[in-house]
Amino acid sequence: MTSDPDLLVVESCKFAHEAHLVRSALQSIGIKAVIADEHVVAMNWALAQAVGGIKVKVRSADLQRARDFLDQRRQQSGSSRRTPCDRCRSRNTRIIRTGRSLAVLFWFFTGQPLPTLRTRVRCVDCGRTRNV
Ligand SMILES: [Zn+2]
Repeated sequence: MTSDPDLLVVESCKFAHEAHLVRSALQSIGIKAVIADEHVVAMNWALAQAVGGIKVKVRSADLQRARDFLDQRRQQSGSSRRTPCDRCRSRNTRIIRTGRSLAVLFWFFTGQPLPTLRTRVRCVDCGRTRNV
């Protein structure tokens, strides 16, 4: 089911327990969710950034409701990971990790993680991109 093209990433986590908590929360409101790449990361943690972390996926029809629910959950817990855009103050932002392909190649040939991956935040509403 994790390779189903109708499944879209709603959350990306560093640790398996975070992904399981997100999946459980989504299932508690009736959204079916699956976890992808958990075992890839468990086999070699250095691949976590290369594959984009441990992903929680939902069907495309449930994506917006899942995002809204997770955003609301973060706000209620006071631990919103989404910082507002510094131009338009929107919290509709996405994390962009660049250099994944390079990281996979580097890891493949050297067996070591590439420490210089860039993480940026892009505002969906105004398009501003900034480094974090
Ligand atoms: Zn913005």
